[in-house]
Amino acid sequence: MKIARIFAHRVELPLVEGTYRWNNGNSVSVFDSTVVGVETDSGLIGYGEVCPLGPCYLPAYADGVRCGLRELAPHLLGADPLQLTKLNVQMDSVLNGHPYVKTAIDIACWDLLGKATGLPVCTLMGGRYGESVRLYRAITQLPPDEMASNVAKYRDEGYTRFQLKVGGDADTDIARIHAAREILAPSDRLVADANTGWTQHEAMRVVNAVRDLDVYIEQPCLTYQECLAVRQNTTLPFALDENIDSLAMLMRANRDLAMDIVNIKISKFGGLTKAKQARDLCVSLGIAMTIEDSWGGDITTAAIAHLAHSTPEPMRFTSTDFNSYNTVCNATGAPRRENGFMKASEAPGLGVTPIVDAIGPVVWEVSNCSKPASNSHAKTDGMAMPEPHINSVTQSV
Ligand SMILES: [Mg+2]
Repeated sequence: MKIARIFAHRVELPLVEGTYRWNNGNSVSVFDSTVVGVETDSGLIGYGEVCPLGPCYLPAYADGVRCGLRELAPHLLGADPLQLTKLNVQMDSVLNGHPYVKTAIDIACWDLLGKATGLPVCTLMGGRYGESVRLYRAITQLPPDEMASNVAKYRDEGYTRFQLKVGGDADTDIARIHAAREILAPSDRLVADANTGWTQHEAMRVVNAVRDLDVYIEQPCLTYQECLAVRQNTTLPFALDENIDSLAMLMRANRDLAMDIVNIKISKFGGLTKAKQARDLCVSLGIAMTIEDSWGGDITTAAIAHLAHSTPEPMRFTSTDFNSYNTVCNATGAPRRENGFMKASEAPGLGVTPIVDAIGPVVWEVSNCSKPASNSHAKTDGMAMPEPHINSVTQSV
């Protein structure tokens, strides 16, 4: 089986709540997601999706996905999509870094592997643990009483874990944390996620002011060193997210005892293959995880569900059902939240089928054509490949 065509759709994902706000005034109202299809020479198609959280969260942005695909995808024509580790080595050899660009291709190839073998991705990633995956709800940044009201509202819908978007004014954040914790039951979990938004001294003020509450602190500051300093001066359970984007950082943070929980976002690592490596290492090290992505629609949610559901339950802290935050459904077959939990599909692959009207036209594609090979760009294992045909009609993104 060989990759014969790679194509992309641009999908807008408006939010049910209108706007999503996090640290220091950052917000998004309509997410810009890219759905990528990988088609093989046998006609089988796998799908993946990647959706950055705007341009200023991680070093990733929506148009960057499509620009990166133009650079990367032609090199992959002729490669075997089912040999995923090998494919990732190839992607890294032709495009240094840019893990988010590689993410949707890698996810699409896991979808292909599942379809080719008749197995759900969850099974291929190690097996299904438990009946379902527990979810958290992200609570957009608002005044303290409004955030507490939203926590109560989503608790009524079945969620038992909540992630408050703080990282703004420290005094207001202290009030936010107190107000939210007050309306929760002892068995509920509350995370105060600053998304890098506090300076070190303000972070210390916050952790000191909420030290007697049952609350987790997530990624208080921008740099790893600042986060480590806060971690070493608080007894509150501590999660790292934005700083942990590789196995090397994961191992460093483990050595430094820098976290109790780590957030594994699929596109931060470059796809399911590398996120699974990080997941497996965390399982071996005994570090529980939030398993999710930066954002996304139904295809991303399906990928999250398969990675999470194949993770031993004690190591699963939370996951996210991003598709319930959006007004647009971009695929059928994706997990649907039930009482604060979701399940990975038992169908082959991711178990999703893109909705043609929702994903819109192909905005860019590259495919093999029958021209004789003359382009060193498109070689696999030393074998000359046909020159790629890049669709000039829909090339513009
Ligand atoms: Mg986070």
